[in-house]
Amino acid sequence: MPIVAYRIHISGVVQGVGFRPFVYNLATRLGLSGWVLNSSSGVEIEASGPPAVLEEFITRLRTDAPPLARIEQVTVTPVVPPAPSGAFVIRHSEAQPDRFQPLSPDIAICEDCLRELFDERDRRYRYPFINCTNCGPRFTIIRDIPYDRPNTTMAPFRMCADCQAEYDDPTNRRFHAQPNACPVCGPHIWFRGAGVELTGEAALQAARRMLREGGVVAVKGLGGFHLACDATSDQAVARLRERKGRVGKPFAIMSFDLATVARYCELNDAERELVTSRQRPIVLLRRRAGAPISPLVAPGNRYLGVMLPYTPLHYLLLEPADDFPLALVMTSGNYSEEPIAVANEEALERLARLADGFLLHNRDIHARCDDSVTRILLRTGMELPVRRSRGYAPYPVHLPFQMPQILAVGAELKNTFCLTREKYAFLSQHIGDVENYETLRFFEQMVEQLARTFRVTPAIIACDLHPAYLTGRYAREHAELTSRPLVQVQHHHAHIAACMAEHGLTGERPVIGVACDGTGYGSDGAIWGGEFIIADYRSFRRVAHLKYIPLPGGDAAIRRPRRTALAYLWAAGIPWEEDLPPVEATPASERMVLARQLERGINTVPTSSMGRLFDAVSALAGGRQEITYEAQAAIELEMAVEEAVEEAYPFEPGEVIDTAPCLRAVVADVRAGAPAGVIAAKLHNGLALMISAVCRRLREQFGLNEVALSGGVFQNVTLTGKAMALLEEAGFTVYVHRLVPPNDACIALGQAVIAGSLHPPAG
Ligand code: ZN
Ligand code: ZN
Ligand code: FE
Repeated sequence: MPIVAYRIHISGVVQGVGFRPFVYNLATRLGLSGWVLNSSSGVEIEASGPPAVLEEFITRLRTDAPPLARIEQVTVTPVVPPAPSGAFVIRHSEAQPDRFQPLSPDIAICEDCLRELFDERDRRYRYPFINCTNCGPRFTIIRDIPYDRPNTTMAPFRMCADCQAEYDDPTNRRFHAQPNACPVCGPHIWFRGAGVELTGEAALQAARRMLREGGVVAVKGLGGFHLACDATSDQAVARLRERKGRVGKPFAIMSFDLATVARYCELNDAERELVTSRQRPIVLLRRRAGAPISPLVAPGNRYLGVMLPYTPLHYLLLEPADDFPLALVMTSGNYSEEPIAVANEEALERLARLADGFLLHNRDIHARCDDSVTRILLRTGMELPVRRSRGYAPYPVHLPFQMPQILAVGAELKNTFCLTREKYAFLSQHIGDVENYETLRFFEQMVEQLARTFRVTPAIIACDLHPAYLTGRYAREHAELTSRPLVQVQHHHAHIAACMAEHGLTGERPVIGVACDGTGYGSDGAIWGGEFIIADYRSFRRVAHLKYIPLPGGDAAIRRPRRTALAYLWAAGIPWEEDLPPVEATPASERMVLARQLERGINTVPTSSMGRLFDAVSALAGGRQEITYEAQAAIELEMAVEEAVEEAYPFEPGEVIDTAPCLRAVVADVRAGAPAGVIAAKLHNGLALMISAVCRRLREQFGLNEVALSGGVFQNVTLTGKAMALLEEAGFTVYVHRLVPPNDACIALGQAVIAGSLHPPAG
């Protein structure tokens, strides 16, 4: 039989994920000779053997690849077969300082490690830091690349002889597993609280006891601390809410396994897959009637944010027992809106008044990383991300074109930033609301760290148009200091560009962009958020929008939907009568001031925000008059929707879409005693019809058939589903987010591609 040889180059996430031993073992089993090494841009293989066997080898490189590998490209070139050597070897590679590799995100414990964790005969029985090349921490423990143990927070732990033997053995699952550890040589846990300090199994049991008894335990996790408590106990959850200063915003919960989750939530196949995926995000699932979960976990919400354990410590902590709760609240370890705590000392100090006890460990967290939040959009069966962080970041979004090196700083709320090079857009993990010093510092540290890790030296900086964003100030200062071009991008242009980019659109043909949002700074200084734009990456043209209403006091109104409702009533010429809930809820003196403000246009901001329209209708329907977290009124209005209702509020699909007819209809319904669920349904139906009608008109006018939906309002799956259905029925190609969230977490991606198209890379 003839012997042929191939040189095979593989790019993607192929280093630090057990790829070389996989190649070694596969080649050895197939009887091929040759070598494999980590190269500057991926993995390089030379393999020789009979042609048929080589074909099988190449196929299986893709099909059998280790779970953490993300293969982007396999290039095969025939070479002259070397003299037969019989053996296949792993060659050592030299470090190449200017090259970069996509990093693997942190990944949940694998099946093999989980089995060993609960196997009495295993030397890692009940060891909270068990891991292998197929699972475990990555991004959060990496200080620099190349991804080797000295560059991780595992550096201080010297492997014992047994661990070292596994690490050196290419046939072992732990060959070159950088966080490899065991009870003899690795990190350990301890518990502090209730006047005791305990280590090992005793620490774990003390934490479980405290949870069982209704206490709050701060648990050090993968990307930061969680605050945990019994999710089935009203008292425990109420205590945590009070201490955390979090009134109504839902808490995430964690259960031991899928069977337990199925007891209190409904899951379809796609949701089951997502909950059990290696990324282990928090998945928003429909709560079952009579679910034994405290209503205080997610007040006023039909959904529960649920995740499965993703570290061995979680599995040990949640191990089922008769008297142990079937779900724990696992919310980020911080006061509202501060960054999540990561270091032991920091947690002991910052969380002292929040937690009764601390379950700590001594493997340091280098990169803070919050849990991801996601859901399945029923209409597509695809993910609709809400927060893209642990398990996803910093895996890049692939772009269909070359990019210069750019830093896009993103928006202010739900901030992420974006670094680009070649065809990669590296989106950071969730940074949070960059409104305070702590979060700004976290932002600055991560910009520096990710730029170093991915070898990006930004030539261009992009930011939002908003004059008051701290991220914008950072961008302006840095651009000026280093005389780099600054590109200021309109918020909704960025939204639509982000949606286009994640769908791999080249931008040669513009799309109809529908940006439905809470707040975004408009090119005219108004607050936009109900916008139809014709956009490509280079430019956009606003072709329709909700009619401006004057928002008294700007941000003050956002926290008080009743004030927004009064402004809408005023704009629609509907008198403020006390049978309307928001009028009743507003003291007469405040109404007088408001009326004067509106009449004279003092301290009012014109807005076309669809988020505010939701707030106003919610308040009129008798919902929240004041809110305690962003978008609460809109979320609760969506939860109220009665699905059987088919009627819709009227909107004229003109260039300036007047909300007055809708408001008049809402008020008539309120006065006729219509239930909130009917009003909510008619608003959703009306907006979906309006979106589709405007898009049809724009199709006539501009000859475009592709629609991109973006903006925080499209986190509303009811509206998104209805709008998509109508648009698809009308023959449109519709793009909705599935890789990055439709909310402001996508802004950085949009800013980056827009800046890149204005300053294309040389050559
Ligand atoms: Zn494993
Ligand atoms: Zn060891
Ligand atoms: Fe936005």
